[in-house]
Amino acid sequence: MSKGKINVSVENIFPLIKKFLYSDHEIFLRELISNATDATLKLKHLAAIGEAKVEYGNPIIEIKVDKKGKKLHIIDQGIGMTEEEVKKYINQVAFSGAEEFLNKYEDGAKDTGIIGHFGLGFYSAFMVADKVEIISKSYTDAPAVHWSCDGSPNFDLKKAKKTDRGTEIILHIADDSTEFLEDNRITELLNKYNKFMPIPIKFGMRTETLPKPEDAKEDDPAPTQEVDNIVNNPEPAWTKQPADLNDEDYKGFYRELYPMQFEEPLFHIHLNVDYPFNLTGILYFPKMTQDLNIQKDRIQLYQNQVFVTDNVEGIVPEFLTMLRGVIDSPDIPLNVSRSYLQADGAVKKISSYITRKVADKLNSLFKNNREDFEAKWNDIKIVIEYGMLSEEKFFEKADKFALYPTVDGSFYTFEELHEKTKNTQTDKDEKLVLLYASDKEAQHSYIEAAKAKGYEVLLMDSPIISHLMQKLETSKEKVSFVRVDADHIDNLIKKEDTVISKLSDEEKEKLKTDLEETITNKSYTVQLEAMDSDASPFIITEPEFMRRMKEMQQTGGGG
Ligand code: ADP
Ligand code: MG
Repeated sequence: MSKGKINVSVENIFPLIKKFLYSDHEIFLRELISNATDATLKLKHLAAIGEAKVEYGNPIIEIKVDKKGKKLHIIDQGIGMTEEEVKKYINQVAFSGAEEFLNKYEDGAKDTGIIGHFGLGFYSAFMVADKVEIISKSYTDAPAVHWSCDGSPNFDLKKAKKTDRGTEIILHIADDSTEFLEDNRITELLNKYNKFMPIPIKFGMRTETLPKPEDAKEDDPAPTQEVDNIVNNPEPAWTKQPADLNDEDYKGFYRELYPMQFEEPLFHIHLNVDYPFNLTGILYFPKMTQDLNIQKDRIQLYQNQVFVTDNVEGIVPEFLTMLRGVIDSPDIPLNVSRSYLQADGAVKKISSYITRKVADKLNSLFKNNREDFEAKWNDIKIVIEYGMLSEEKFFEKADKFALYPTVDGSFYTFEELHEKTKNTQTDKDEKLVLLYASDKEAQHSYIEAAKAKGYEVLLMDSPIISHLMQKLETSKEKVSFVRVDADHIDNLIKKEDTVISKLSDEEKEKLKTDLEETITNKSYTVQLEAMDSDASPFIITEPEFMRRMKEMQQTGGGG
């Protein structure tokens, strides 16, 4: 048996760990299971290259709660550690990692949100335990070792009896952390952080129902057996090749990710890149509800199948945070603040890659099945319109597939619209004038009047559409959007077959003066126009800019 002193400059690092990470104590389990996973994968690698002369087999990681003894065990069958390795990796490496993390964290503490509080590693165990033991047997011939530490910089190291390969970590749970002795709490954590980790994780046993034997009687109970309760799926869909997955697999994975979501996603985008950065993932377009604030099923960020956070702000462009799914990348720096993250070169590349993939997917859906794309338009337009407003690169791509519906239910791209209207809907400056309605019911007579003149009338009723129209007006040459009840409509270059009014000139004059007396708001103009239908014989218009000014004031900010 030997005793030693952990070599550190900050003697009281343990109280610091507790203090700084107070709200995130639960991550200790993720850190310890990550280490167990790393140790197992290292063994797999060494066995594969012939360095370790061992049978790799089907190793698992086991979590055990000993409520009476107030202990939590994390047991792996990985590479293990020799005495020398414990001294080196635990006393020095792990400790310096913890120290470095704390220094960084102290600096960044004022800056909000270090992502997932990664990097603290092994020593995060001391957030919940007042004593930690390691019993480890290396895959080599070296004897097993037993390390223990009570949270002071002093540790004990002695020989152990363990004969099977791997490491067992024993946490003596502190009195203020007894929640981590509850099965429910552990299950919750395993579900949150470890659901898709690559090595099977066992927590307790469960009863499995077997098929009835052939000769069983009708009311014989089906036989059962006790099996390991494996809590994770070590091979989640995003780690596979798109070619090996079908539509059902993608939908199945969506249900796995969001068990409480009953609505199916509209479509998915499989992300898979290994240069110049590493990223895999699957994004889903859900049906968009107007009320996006209540959305709690968000995109989840993983690192090598370990859950980090579901706040991907700064990593994907804001308009895509409305999507769902998984992003897994080891190239996203985690122990930094959000503001640092946004300036990081790799993260910028990742963000624009995701934007491009989403645009490409939408474009191929549009090209390959236009009918289906039109049918989905109302459910996806918020994301697309918001993206067009906020990301220039996305605007350029989306301009080819963004749809503008008419009041009659047709859908046109901008280019198609241009083609359709360029000969009939220009004003004297040769500007294309695109007419739209924002409310089919309220603007009914104006719509009918415009249609009677042979004009196309768009239906623009999205929440941010006035900003998008302004964006189109500034990025396209000579285009203006004009609502059907605006006075502009009168200045359009008319087609030859103008319909004749049912009123005589005298009747018109009389009506006009009467109306002008009644309508006191001088920003409106009374027009007595040629009407063919049963629609009103006159219309009252307001200049487009006046109306839009009011609207912008209501919805705030420009695009
Ligand atoms: P990191 O995992 O980032 O290296 P940690 O503090 O989590 O930092 O762990 C420090 C080191 O301790 C690991 O790099 C590894 O060498 C060793 N270690 C920790 N847990 C285990 C384990 N279960 N089996 C084998 N080695 C381990
Ligand atoms: Mg670690």
